[in-house]
Amino acid sequence: MAYGVFLENMNIIKNNLNVLRKDIPSNVKLVAVSKTKTEKELLEAYECGQRIFGENKIQEMSSKFENLPKDIEWHMIGHVQTNKVKYMAPFVHTIHSVDRIKLLNEIQKQALINDRIIECLIQVRIAVEETKFGILPSELNPILEKASTYPNIKIKGLMGMASFTSNREQIRSEFKILANLFRLNNEFNVLSMGMSGDYSIAIEEGSNMIRVGSKIFGERNY
Ligand SMILES: *Cc1c(COP(=O)(O)O)cnc(C)c1O
Repeated sequence: MAYGVFLENMNIIKNNLNVLRKDIPSNVKLVAVSKTKTEKELLEAYECGQRIFGENKIQEMSSKFENLPKDIEWHMIGHVQTNKVKYMAPFVHTIHSVDRIKLLNEIQKQALINDRIIECLIQVRIAVEETKFGILPSELNPILEKASTYPNIKIKGLMGMASFTSNREQIRSEFKILANLFRLNNEFNVLSMGMSGDYSIAIEEGSNMIRVGSKIFGERNY
């Protein structure tokens, strides 16, 4: 019985991934958002060829990193406390949620200690909702200037989350703001926007990296 359930789950993740892959253009990278999901579930996606995983808690990401294959690219997509950067600096590939200079300072310090270059995205607040993290568009240049002095940080582009709403035009207009900021800077090459509910709109507006969780792994139980 348990074995049957396992096979069934395995097929669900595999099928979800295959459906998603058919739906996204080849220039769009897929970050499989695996927060709250078990290592077994991550491995199922891994066995279907998925190599980029996104997590929002450093401790959870670190223990998954310890136990899972080492060719996985780990992306931190959640809010980062400065004092926790040291735990992910040895292995994190990209931090999507850089939103303040104090955090940049710490990433540089820890990346240097580990003799690594950590790729970062600046998280911009595009949603009208109050609750979302991220800088205002007007705060972007000071952060970029600071980052350009840091040899162990490579700013690859921008990340943003649209409002949690069923209003598709609202979501589109928020993505447009981020896409316009992205296009203004020739050095950017990653535009991380779009989740399970809105990745199609995000791709239409120019996203080349989507962060999809529930559409691959199913709903999360917190
Ligand atoms: C959880 C999360 C996602 C994925 O959400 P889904 O709706 O499950 O696809 C994407 N981005 C961030 C920043 C998240 O925290």
